Amino acid sequence: MSSSPCAVTFIGTGIMGSPMAEHLITNGHPLHVHNRTREKAKLLLEQGAVWHDTPESAAAASDTVITMLGLPADVEQVYFGQEGVGGILAAAKPGSLLIDMTTSSPHLAERISRAAEERGIEALDAPVSGGDVGARDASLVIMVGGRQEAFDRAVPLFEQLGKSITLLGPAGNGQRCKLVNQIAVAVGMVAWCEALAVAKAAGLDPSVAQGVISGGAAGSWGLTNLAPRALSADFKPGFLVRHLVKDICLAQEEADSHGVYLPGLEVARRL
Ligand code: NAP
Repeated sequence: MSSSPCAVTFIGTGIMGSPMAEHLITNGHPLHVHNRTREKAKLLLEQGAVWHDTPESAAAASDTVITMLGLPADVEQVYFGQEGVGGILAAAKPGSLLIDMTTSSPHLAERISRAAEERGIEALDAPVSGGDVGARDASLVIMVGGRQEAFDRAVPLFEQLGKSITLLGPAGNGQRCKLVNQIAVAVGMVAWCEALAVAKAAGLDPSVAQGVISGGAAGSWGLTNLAPRALSADFKPGFLVRHLVKDICLAQEEADSHGVYLPGLEVARRL
């Protein structure tokens, strides 16, 4: 006998969260949603998701809660409440699984994991790579930190959102791997922007040059997926600049704590 898909709560229905939540609805999961701005959950509500006015009410409505927020401060507020009062850690049922897919601080992920354990709740940090395209295509790379048992429980959901799912160790290590990813993304972005600026200045058709070099040693996800958007002056946010700056700062903090000097990332941050 096959069991029906479990109810899931999704908090944070922005650029990434909306298409991710939509996959869960499409796959038959009853969905409970909350977002700071209700308007951004409209499409999900039209597809049958149930709206909650607060993160706490949404978290109490199911045993599995996914958060896809913007900044570490947003994560702290949603998990621990305003000035430490409320929050989904207090509202979630014992035995619940909380999965934070925001790109956030590894230390905050460790704090959430400890607080969850004290309350008999499981927590995972599971940030993603692959951009808005990956969220829409369910082809995200998912980097997970936390306990094996919690990971095993989350895998059937992750499989509906991504194509590469890896447990990297204890709480915080999903975020650490994502910061490693963001160092390569940010410094790589400087490289392909500079390359295409010279292509244009030198009288080459930059789109043709982009296509040609994408197939060689310079090829990268950003050059293939982001450069064509930049070249056609499509600057509709797929990934907000303030989020990349946040990631660069988190990555610099992590590198500093290990005494690793990152001159390339410093250039990317300044730009
Ligand atoms: P986004 O569009 O800003 O989505 C974040 C959502 O979280 C927003 O809708 C925001 O509400 C909501 N939110 C923030 N604080 C909240 C709170 N206290 N209570 C309820 N809702 C709250 O950003 P995004 O592009 O989806 O990115 C989400 C995360 O994934 C970020 O950490 C980002 O760095 C990371 N990421 C993004 C990409 C990408 O390509 N976009 C790729 C990989 C990873 P409002 O609507 O009111 O602002």
